[in-house]
Amino acid sequence: MSNTANILSMENLQVHFAGRGRILDRVLARPVAAVRAVDGIDLTIGRGEIVAVVGESGSGKSTVGRVITKLIQPTGGKLFFAGRDVTSVEGFSALRSYRHRVQMIFQDAYQALNPRHTIFDIVAEGVRSLRLVADDDELAERVAGSLSSAGLNPPEDFFARFPHELSGGQRQRVVIAGALAVEPELIVADEPVSMLDVSIRAQILQVLTELRTQRNMALLFITHDLPVAWSIADRIAVMYLGRVVEVGTADQITFNPRHPYTIALSKATPKAHPATASEAISALDGEVPSAARMPTGCRFHPRCPVAVDHCGKEDPPAVAVGPNHEAACWLLTK
Ligand code: SF4
Repeated sequence: MSNTANILSMENLQVHFAGRGRILDRVLARPVAAVRAVDGIDLTIGRGEIVAVVGESGSGKSTVGRVITKLIQPTGGKLFFAGRDVTSVEGFSALRSYRHRVQMIFQDAYQALNPRHTIFDIVAEGVRSLRLVADDDELAERVAGSLSSAGLNPPEDFFARFPHELSGGQRQRVVIAGALAVEPELIVADEPVSMLDVSIRAQILQVLTELRTQRNMALLFITHDLPVAWSIADRIAVMYLGRVVEVGTADQITFNPRHPYTIALSKATPKAHPATASEAISALDGEVPSAARMPTGCRFHPRCPVAVDHCGKEDPPAVAVGPNHEAACWLLTK
């Protein structure tokens, strides 16, 4: 059941892709297991809330963003937006109206911007296609307001410029302005600062935080970087191989992680203590296993330094480990 206090609810959300298998599988026409990119996620985002989804590559975090923005369809479970079931929204007009309310910001601002369009036209594109303003004056006002909110001031100085004339940080601000211009209720930002210098990152995170305060806009922030997630989010959901393994407030996940994977992830964050760093490298050694060849039982057990026998047999349920704090690990079940 959806709750209208939440702008978005995912209930047992799944995205399974048809597996391609190895060459021999195809030659022998052997059945191939589906790739379970997202495999049963329950997560909510409140109105005006910032939720970060954190995980390594292959965890399914970007797929979650793509399902929410309707770039791909879920294969199971339910998705509710503002209390309405939008699991199967499709068709030009329904998608147009949904995308008015849910916008996406991608990692690579340069790729996202048409190099032949001026900054004015880029920011105005969504407003024009959704016919959100009555005339050119209103359009110019909307574009200027969006550029200014994204920290590009004075906004008129950017109207006639092209993407190649801007720095990386300014280009990411243009992408944010384009999303803001249609006045969405939710923005999904997929690694929006990972390609930027550290000093610029802080400025972009500040812009996104201020937008929530000014516009009560919700944000789903996708990142591989736990400290970045802590700096911006109210709550953090940690993903591993298509599942949320721990969810809690940003402080709980950062300073009191309970799931062995979250603990390993937080230790893997570069620190000044060599002993901690080497411990972390052993805990997160190697790649995340492929979602096409899922381990049985707890998915983290092939890498988990504290796994017990039972871990390879059965998937652990999520249990409460504190107020609004849940983790899925056999060691935490009573
Ligand atoms: Fe490690 Fe077992 Fe907990 Fe999974 S269930 S995180 S393998 S201890």
